Order: sequence, then structure tokens, then C-alpha cells
Amino acid sequence: MKIGIIGAGIAGLASAVRMASRGHEVQVFEANSYPGGKLSEFSLNGYRFDAGPSLFTMPHYVDELFRLAGEEPAEHFRYERLPVVCHYFWEDGARLLAHAGQEEFAREVERQLGVPPQRLHEALADSRRKYELTGRIFLEKSLHRLSTWLGPGVLPAMLAIPRLGLFTNMDTVNRRHLRHPKLVQLFNRFATYNGSNPYKAPGLLTIIPHFEHHIGAFFPKGGMYAITRSIYELAQRKGARFSFGSPVEEIVVERGRATGLKVGGRTHAFDRIISNMDVFFTYKKLLPREKHPHRILKQEKSTSALIFYWGIRREFPELGLHNIFFSDDYRAEFGRLSEGRVYEDPTVYINITSKLEPADAPEGAENWFTMINVPYHAGQDWDAIIERSRAGVLAKLSRILGVDVASFIECEDVLEPRTIESRTASHLGALYGTSSNSRMAAFLRHPNFSGRIEGLYFCGGSAHPGGGIPLCLLSAKIVDEVMHGANGKARPGIKSNSWTF
Ligand SMILES: Cc1cc2nc3c(=O)[nH]c(=O)nc-3n(C[C@H](O)[C@H](O)[C@H](O)COP(=O)(O)OP(=O)(O)OC[C@H]3O[C@@H](n4cnc5c(N)ncnc54)[C@H](O)[C@@H]3O)c2cc1C
Repeated sequence: MKIGIIGAGIAGLASAVRMASRGHEVQVFEANSYPGGKLSEFSLNGYRFDAGPSLFTMPHYVDELFRLAGEEPAEHFRYERLPVVCHYFWEDGARLLAHAGQEEFAREVERQLGVPPQRLHEALADSRRKYELTGRIFLEKSLHRLSTWLGPGVLPAMLAIPRLGLFTNMDTVNRRHLRHPKLVQLFNRFATYNGSNPYKAPGLLTIIPHFEHHIGAFFPKGGMYAITRSIYELAQRKGARFSFGSPVEEIVVERGRATGLKVGGRTHAFDRIISNMDVFFTYKKLLPREKHPHRILKQEKSTSALIFYWGIRREFPELGLHNIFFSDDYRAEFGRLSEGRVYEDPTVYINITSKLEPADAPEGAENWFTMINVPYHAGQDWDAIIERSRAGVLAKLSRILGVDVASFIECEDVLEPRTIESRTASHLGALYGTSSNSRMAAFLRHPNFSGRIEGLYFCGGSAHPGGGIPLCLLSAKIVDEVMHGANGKARPGIKSNSWTF
């Protein structure tokens, strides 16, 4: 079959590998001049920066792509497990190292916060249990196919619903298990891994720490961009063809079936089309004449981010790869985000890849990716917000680290909601598509196929199962499964046997 893919974001690349490995003829059209979408990199004055994602979990989903393509992953993509997942800092001088090993983490929590280890063990056991009950159904399968709901594992998950935290929020679950305000704040932070609010998002999202503390947090050799590079090169080796600087202008639909893509005024015919473009813009820009799934398209967006990429002419031995400087009032911080505003003294995240890849910064220097959570773009005065936030972030870091951080900045670049939207066509600059703040969020994310247009499929952060690298990789896997039967043969078209909410 001839498969056309719109976008070379991480899910588009993974789809290209999967389709080409099945022997299909694959053509990817990418608007930018480079692959990766949000997962890209750039250099500035001798510093290398990963532009978007910095935390890498579930590396086996990358390995899986190499294996199904018949290659040995370690020959092309290597990564290491982090012994310390994150360095945490508070304004009152408290510090804590989140060790990957659970015993060591529990001892550190007891030493620094006086919390009995048992509480941490219970919270992480609860996280594992919830993941084991629901992960396969909610993350690895299409929620819009009857076969998922008739499959194994559904009954135990249904019976466990009262204990999954669906009817309460993350903060409540974390307070019940952990009680200490700083530890609750630390665990509430996991809501930000998919751009949600821990005071609204269902307690089921307390599965997220399971990824980081049981399966692990990892760092790819060469930085996060190595994920993009290695999957892109794999797709090319399998025969996928890429056209960069080639924005798709229209999905051609004939008698209810997607038959081609219009690019640069020319129509290319395809048997199947996979859109890795944000679902919202796929409909608005590429399918203006088709009926739109309005309920899905108007779902609340996830949060966005404001990032200062700083070349810092100094080394900070107290910092690691991932660092968090918490705000004093987390509830107020998320309250502001819900109102579309930015908190005056927000939690600051710093990622420093030169800690593990010294070549990412000149000698004696560090590459700081300094990020705060901000609301999605809704017409705010971002220039004023950036100026105010920059001053606030620097004041906070200087207070906690005890040095004038601004005096060490030798180069700077900025990414913010408007540029996130313009560079990757992500609606309103949301990092993770729609938010997971409601119980129904998983069901109201766009399915991995169109229920109306035969032969049209969707992957990427705005489609099921959601944003973040692991889930985007899973979206490509689900597209592949939905498109092909168990025997690996392409199904005729999904339209007639599909259903959506
Ligand atoms: C600052 C930031 C920090 C993040 N941190 C993390 C993290 O630590 N860990 C994590 O797992 N995730 C993180 N994420 C989220 C993660 O980056 C995304 O969920 C993921 O990369 C999205 O991939 P995607 O496949 O949806 O495609 P995208 O990256 O959104 O790319 C879509 C591609 O489609 C192209 N495109 C759009 N329209 C067209 C068109 N008409 N024609 C052709 N091409 C088109 C775009 O140019 C783009 O290249 C972060 C994101 C950002 C921005």
C-alpha cells in the first residue's frame, strides 16, 4: 500500500518505521526543514540544547521500533538509567534527591523530611497497582474499538474502579498516602507530565510516578535529540521517503474516503493517510469541508511552557540533569494557570544535559534549559509575561542557590506558547494536546482513526493516548494495530466497524 504521513514529529517518525517495516511504500511530508517537531535541538554560542522534551521514560518503546524493523537497538540508540531522577529544592532551604532506587529514595525522604519510609512505599505500590490494572487498556489499546473492551484485563479493571481514584483528584490521593506537604507537592508535580492540574486531574494519574520510579528515568546518549535522529535514520533505512519544507495543504477526500494529499498545489495519491499534525489543525486547515468532531476539538488544552535556554559560564555541582525549585504555594500556582495567568513565583525546572554530555557546553560552563509552566495561548501579553517571569525566575534561583545567576548568563534563547504553536502547528501552544483534568479526558481525546473518513488515521500528542514521548510512540503502535489485522494484513478501511463517543 502507499501510505502518506503528515508531519515528522516523533509519532510520525514511529509510524513511518512501522509502515515501512511492513513493506508499505511510505512518504512523509514535513512542514519544517528538520524532523522531530517538538523533539528537536539547536546550538547557540558553543552550547547544544534539546529544544523540547527533557525527561525520557519507557525507552523500550523506542527499542521496539528497531526490533520490529529487524535491527538491534543498541547498535543505533543507547541510553543510561539515571541513578538520581531529580534534585528538588525549596525556598526554606530543604533539598531532596529523588533516587531511582525505591529503598534509597525512601531513606532520603526520611532523612530530609522525617517521613516514615512506609508512606513512600505505599504510594509507589498504589501507583504500580493502578498501572498494572489500567495501563494496557488506557494506553496501549484503542479506546474506540469494541475488541478492546471485550479483551483480557477489562473485567479486573472495571471491578477495581472504586479504588482507581477516578472520582477524586491526584492531590487528595497523594495527601492520603504521603501526608507531608513537601512530599505531596513532589508527587503532585507528576500532573505536569501531561500538562494537567493535580487539584483537578483524576487520582488515576497517580500512576505516573510508576514510570519514573519503577521503570526508570533514562538519558539517551547524545541527548534527547538522539531519539529523533535514530528513529528518523531507521525510517530512511527501511525505505520511507521524507519531503521537508513541504506543508500539506489538504487531505483529498472522495466519496468518504481519504485518497491523497495536496502539497505545493500538487495532489499525491495514497491508499492510507496518517496525520501526525495536531488534530485541531488537521480538521481546520486540511479538512475544511468535512464535518468536524466539535466536542473533541473544543476540549480544554494542556498547559504550555516558557523556556529560557541559557548558556551559563559556571558549574553548579549541587545541580543534576533534572532540577526542580518549588513554589511555596502550589495550589495557588495551578489556580493561576487555570485562570490563564502565570503565577508570580512559579516552580522552576532546570534541565542540564552537559552534566552527562560534557560536549553540550564549553568547559567550565553548563547549558540550562530553564522552564516554567504557563497556560496555553489565549491572547495573553506574552512579551510582558516573559520579561516579568525572567526577572522572577532569576531572583528565585539566585535566592536558593546563593549566587547572582544572571551574571553568569552568556547567551540566551526563548521558547513560549506562541512559538511552540508556530513551529509545530500545536493548537494554542499546548505541550500535550488536550489536558487530562477531567475523568472523561481519555475518552474525549481523538481516536487513532477517523470514524467518518475511511483510510484516515491519527497519531501524536493530540490523539489517543495523549502527549509525551512514550504515549506518542504508543499512538503510532495503535494506528498500526488498527490498520492491520492480527495476521498483519491491511484491513479494508476502518470506517464501517468503528464507533466514537
Ligand atoms: C518544551 C516542551 C517540553 C516537553 N517535555 C517533555 C518531556 O520532558 N518528556 C516527554 O515525554 N514529553 C515532553 N514534551 C511533549 C512532547 O514533546 C510531545 O508530546 C511530543 O514530542 C509530540 O510529538 P508529536 O508526534 O505529537 O509531534 P509534534 O512534535 O507536535 O510534531 C508535529 C509535526 O507535524 C508537522 N506539521 C504540522 N502541520 C503540518 C502540515 N500541514 N504539513 C506537514 N507537516 C506538518 C510539524 O511541523 C511538526 O514537525 C514536551 C514538549 C515541549 C514543547
